[in-house]
Amino acid sequence: MNKIREKIINTRSIRMLIQVAGFIAFTGLFTLIYGSLKSLYICTMKGNFDLTASIPQLIIITVIFLTTILFGRFFCGWICAFGTLMDFLHFISYKITRKKIIVNHRIDNTLKYLKYVVLAMSIIFIWTLGMNLFEGSNPWDVFGTYTSLGDTPSLTEYMKSNWVGAATLAVIMAGGLFIERFFCRYLCPLGALFTILSKFRIMKIRKEKNHCGKCNICSESCSMGIYINPIDIVHSGECINCLKCIHKCPGENLNTSVGKKQLSKRIITALAVFTLLLCAAAYYGATYIDSIQTSDSGKANISELTKQSTGTYQDGTYEGTGTGFKGTTTVSVTIKNGYITDIATVSTNDDKPYYNRAFSSMVQQIISTQNVGVDSVTGATFSSNGIRNAVADALGQEYQNNNDQIQRGHSGPGSHGEYGKKNGTN
Ligand code: SF4
Ligand code: SF4
Repeated sequence: MNKIREKIINTRSIRMLIQVAGFIAFTGLFTLIYGSLKSLYICTMKGNFDLTASIPQLIIITVIFLTTILFGRFFCGWICAFGTLMDFLHFISYKITRKKIIVNHRIDNTLKYLKYVVLAMSIIFIWTLGMNLFEGSNPWDVFGTYTSLGDTPSLTEYMKSNWVGAATLAVIMAGGLFIERFFCRYLCPLGALFTILSKFRIMKIRKEKNHCGKCNICSESCSMGIYINPIDIVHSGECINCLKCIHKCPGENLNTSVGKKQLSKRIITALAVFTLLLCAAAYYGATYIDSIQTSDSGKANISELTKQSTGTYQDGTYEGTGTGFKGTTTVSVTIKNGYITDIATVSTNDDKPYYNRAFSSMVQQIISTQNVGVDSVTGATFSSNGIRNAVADALGQEYQNNNDQIQRGHSGPGSHGEYGKKNGTN
């Protein structure tokens, strides 16, 4: 086995390891990126952008965007859990059939525009016009529910109540069995953004034209269906840095380089690990900042409220439950002087980044409006529903919302009686 091939095989093994690590550690990172973009966009459009409150989202977006602009789509090729799922499905189908479907380049290139349509429709209809399309019933929620760590709801119940998301995920998975990176090529709205951003990357796949035997193996092996054969440098933003073209070329005619400088296996691996560590730092850093903001938000407006005349609620501390993303969420609600003055989490199985984001925003809104009928938090709909229903349950209120049809086995608000389960009075 010659030296270059040996290098790439090692890089491929490291990529697989990083993909597994990314799948376990950041299963929902791609939805977090999408949700962060959405909430930054909505705040900016509504003119209520708050720099301090947006720090967690800004950290996530800055890290992912910067690494993509500089080094290309390491996130897609090496870290994204949904991308890893696509690779896994294609690997299984190839092992069974020993056949790889190569989509005609013209058709493939045309279909790749679909993801820009998905992105544009998301921005116009969901982000700008506030329509509830797929909100809480999208395929990522189904995927996230059954792949991230924690309790999972009963599969049959879940499929019944969230059949739109389940059916969409099934179609995407079926597509992934037949066409490599089906979702990434044609449908992912983030993929559309990353394709544009990575056009400016400094690290590119290069071909030494003078050695090229025109066998077309590089193009046939490309995960993203890029037609590499007639070009010297892969400028396409579709490239996800999977390095399959380099590995498969029998003439060892491809390499990864910055300008004319060829990068060694060690540097490529270091870049991928660097991106993984940056993602980890962003993910956990954002989660930590979110949790600090969350613990502060419950205390919002308390002093002002308690100075006013008596509110409508009965003083005391009450516990209530609601069904969140990964099972039951329990909160305690404190009423002073007739006002909701504090909401605290007693227990939840939801993934922390989503839950914290939902909690911090929902609690602020509920305390300032003294009403549970507040907006769900973008990208954390199930957690928002769980919190809202738990608070309503604690207050003994019946609460209906647009996502009732996708709630999973929720016993219903007010199930603890008139005022939830009372822990004590003040
Ligand atoms: S294109 Fe989308 S789903 Fe595919 S790897 Fe990139 S972010 Fe993940
Ligand atoms: S096969 Fe090569 S050109 Fe295609 S996505 Fe992978 S690294 Fe990029």
